[in-house]
Amino acid sequence: MNIKAKKRFGQNFLKDESIKQKIIQAMPNDSLKIIEIGPGLGDLTKKLLEKDKDITAFEIDLELCDYLQDSLKSEINKGQLSLVCKDVLECWDDSLHSEDYHLIANLPYYVATNIILKALGDSKCRSMLVMIQKEVALKFSAKVGDKEFSSLGILASLVGESELLFDVGGECFDPPPKVTSSILRIEKTKDYICNELFKDEKEFESFKKFLKTAFVAPRKILAKNLQSRYDKKKIKEFFEKNNLSPTLRPHQLSVKEYHLLFQIIG
Ligand code: SAM
Repeated sequence: MNIKAKKRFGQNFLKDESIKQKIIQAMPNDSLKIIEIGPGLGDLTKKLLEKDKDITAFEIDLELCDYLQDSLKSEINKGQLSLVCKDVLECWDDSLHSEDYHLIANLPYYVATNIILKALGDSKCRSMLVMIQKEVALKFSAKVGDKEFSSLGILASLVGESELLFDVGGECFDPPPKVTSSILRIEKTKDYICNELFKDEKEFESFKKFLKTAFVAPRKILAKNLQSRYDKKKIKEFFEKNNLSPTLRPHQLSVKEYHLLFQIIG
């Protein structure tokens, strides 16, 4: 096999056996379907297949797809692995699959945030175990008061529990990425819609815009950030009524308080 990693598809192949094992050990222990995004050379896919998992894998690179179709022929033929040779984002409507699933992937970093946000909003996705850039993992797993706490942490917390499990150094990949990676786990317990969080997609979209405004200047005063788009009087009343300091910065308001504030001024 002589396949060169393609930068444009974010290809950094995981080579370290002990990290692959740690990922397998951290995966959910049930019989739900697994979706893998970017199987690459199939190293992680093979480990998942050995655990008798039923997998659908999306791979954008047609050269890798040819290679996988050949090297995993018997699993494909017996129906344990279904390989979709397409850009996963083009296949994602409301849900990526008709059955409930867990997402397990060493994600291409150029599109990782987008994929996680899609999966958070996908009611069929029950959990994620993904390798991403450490900086992004810190944002998704941050809690109120952490300096990394942002709209990504809020969106993740609204529907589940996120945790950064462990870091993975560049030397574990071929070719090695310039940044440190981390394994992020998100276990979903709710959905945005149909759980009384938001009444419909339109309201959820407004909430995302509201968060964008709240964090427009992340180190500045939250109330000031919000005043550019929302009613100043209502914002002031919210802070007073809830005994909150008017000088709070965006990372200091809790997820519950953000949701409440949006219900009042959004
Ligand atoms: N899973 C392999 C591993 O751990 O070694 C490869 C991981 S590599 C970081 C990312 C993989 O995602 C590559 O195989 C790449 O071709 C694939 N990929 C990139 N963009 C994609 C997209 N939009 N849809 C599906 N696959 C994509």
